[in-house]
Amino acid sequence: MTSTFPKLLEPLILSGVQLRNRMVMGSMHTGLEDSFMGERKLADYFEARARGGVGLIITGGYSPNLRGKLTPMSARFSNLWHGFKHKVITDRVHQHGAKICLQLLHAGRYAYHPLAVAPSKIKSPISLFTPSAMSERVIQKTISDFSESASLAKWAGYDGVEIMGSEGYLLHEFVAPRTNHRTDAWGGTLENRLRLPLEIVKATRKSVGPQFAIIFRISILDLVEGGSTHEEIIQFAKALEAAGASALSTGIGWHEARIPTIASMVPPGAFRGLAKQLKSVVQIPVIATNRFNTPEMAESALTDGDADLISMARPFLADPDFAIKAKMGKPERINTCIACNQACLDHIFQGKLASCLVNPRAAEEWNSKDYTDALKGKKVLVVGGGPAGLSAARETALAGASVTLLERSEALGGQFRLAQMIPGKSEFKETVRYFKNEIERLGGKILMNQALNEKYAEELSPDAIVLSCGVTPRVPEIDGLKKSKIVFPYDRFIRERIAPGKRIVIIGAGGIGFDIATYCLFHGEDHDQISASYFKHWGIDLKVRAGVTQDSPPKMQAKRAITMLQRKEGAFGQTLGKTTGWIHRSEIKRHGVNMISGVTYKKITDTGILIEVNGEEQELLADQIILCAGQTEVRESEGLGALLKIPYVVIGGQKEAGELDAKRAIRDGLECVAQIAALVAPK
Ligand code: NAP
Ligand code: SF4
Repeated sequence: MTSTFPKLLEPLILSGVQLRNRMVMGSMHTGLEDSFMGERKLADYFEARARGGVGLIITGGYSPNLRGKLTPMSARFSNLWHGFKHKVITDRVHQHGAKICLQLLHAGRYAYHPLAVAPSKIKSPISLFTPSAMSERVIQKTISDFSESASLAKWAGYDGVEIMGSEGYLLHEFVAPRTNHRTDAWGGTLENRLRLPLEIVKATRKSVGPQFAIIFRISILDLVEGGSTHEEIIQFAKALEAAGASALSTGIGWHEARIPTIASMVPPGAFRGLAKQLKSVVQIPVIATNRFNTPEMAESALTDGDADLISMARPFLADPDFAIKAKMGKPERINTCIACNQACLDHIFQGKLASCLVNPRAAEEWNSKDYTDALKGKKVLVVGGGPAGLSAARETALAGASVTLLERSEALGGQFRLAQMIPGKSEFKETVRYFKNEIERLGGKILMNQALNEKYAEELSPDAIVLSCGVTPRVPEIDGLKKSKIVFPYDRFIRERIAPGKRIVIIGAGGIGFDIATYCLFHGEDHDQISASYFKHWGIDLKVRAGVTQDSPPKMQAKRAITMLQRKEGAFGQTLGKTTGWIHRSEIKRHGVNMISGVTYKKITDTGILIEVNGEEQELLADQIILCAGQTEVRESEGLGALLKIPYVVIGGQKEAGELDAKRAIRDGLECVAQIAALVAPK
């Protein structure tokens, strides 16, 4: 039988390590690395991906020494006890035929503690602590710390290590003139700046021998001023190969870069051309990374000779069975990572454990419960086909219930249906596709254009009902609003694809307000076209050092005048995601969107809106005023639920609209299974 993804399934040998396919689960810190007895939980997490068919797993980052830890609580991998604790991970992964490498990451000046070190005493714009410049003794010790950690990793059963040399961490800081101002043998000329990472690779190869993978993560585009030139990167890559690296994994951008590199507005496969350039100058395999989230995209990069392996970190969080579904030729069954960062990177940057918005089981495999005994054969009626309802329907069907889902509109998805129409968020439709396919695969029925009524309840006679009717936009009390013809709630504005006029006023500046501003900014443009010209849009120029100038990202001319309003004082966009909010704020700011805070809404006029700011009234002229003032719960079905005397649970936005997001909605769908099991249990 011919395979749908033949290249992706080809085996490959890395320094004697036989990989069964070309799919790599890239390094992704989950926080379990740093938690008490986290290794057993990590073993469950990685085992699920190994069972799911991935070829190679790279762990989250472990520091080879104390100073290199990211935070005081971060994990280290530097003594026998550490190695011993990891054996459970390597054993469990190997039982399923996958290979696993430990990532060695020295945080350098990104360390969040006073022991931080770097090539030079220069604080990063995103750090609290100024690092000390490393002495000769500390440099020599760091080299031996890396090689000893790699030997320890081999002893613990790892098949290799990935040495983190990109994203602005220590080794990258030595390479780049931006952060390396030394005048000794470790700074100045390119040869000197490359010395530390090369010495580390050489010492590591010497200590682990030839049959052990050493992957070096090299930055192929720095996106910060004072980063490396293309020629320097090529020279570095060749030197790494000569020093004994088994493969090069491609990193993009420093953490402090002001250009998005992995968020949803970055087009899938955006950097594969750069990986190809690297591949053309070395003999060892090249691993392409960043924004690969489908087997189709990965296969096409391999077929085109852009890389030898494809690394996907978040996609394996979203779906542990990604690889096996690709192998079965069933990509439509994959739970696609939508690059939202909301439950993975945002959590890590907030000091929480990572999970996944579309797969709340991710990194919680150790905690999974089985409700099949309680739900098998029970009838569950789910009312509402937004993220919460879809998730509840899938989870109850997975537990063996016979599920019927009612959706009163003509399409599934709820708020996701709207979100996917926002430029940069079209991948949100994949989540709806996944859940729909899953519900049907598990034998569930989906009935469109149907609301809950007594007839349904009688005909279906469910054992339990899940009410997940979602939210509706809040309509603020503003004089003249109800009669106005220029005011639109955001959902209607998007659903009816209303063309924005020349002057737009947006009431409310939460996530939806920013989404609507983005929608209005790019309306009428082919957004795929914008994606294709992502480099130009963000001011990336591959001909200049590190791909950026001081004008990147450039100021842009908006096609219409947009004003965003909020009642609270202070900066806009404070509630946006930790790792994506800055991108939305940057986009809005550089397009000249007018932002006014501390607003009191006085009156909607025929020509706009009258507001008061700092005691002064002003009228903002507007062709359209769009309400993005939060949401309220859709409650009407609850009365019926109670009336029918059928046990019911309320989840998602219908339970509580305040601060609802898709992360909570989908998790509610998972967690309601326990509630339903309790409801239908014999009394
Ligand atoms: P939100 O984040 O709560 O924002 C609501 C906005 O409306 C606030 O700016 C608030 O500011 C204003 N507002 C609230 N009550 C008002 C009233 N009575 N009159 C006038 N203005 C009022 O809600 P959302 O924007 O609807 O987003 C819903 C959820 O989806 C949030 O959890 C959000 O994080 C998430 N989401 C996130 C993103 C993203 O991160 N990119 C995108 C979409 C949605 P003032 O009270 O200061 O006026
Ligand atoms: Fe992908 Fe979002 Fe899940 Fe992170 S939380 S893995 S970005 S879908």
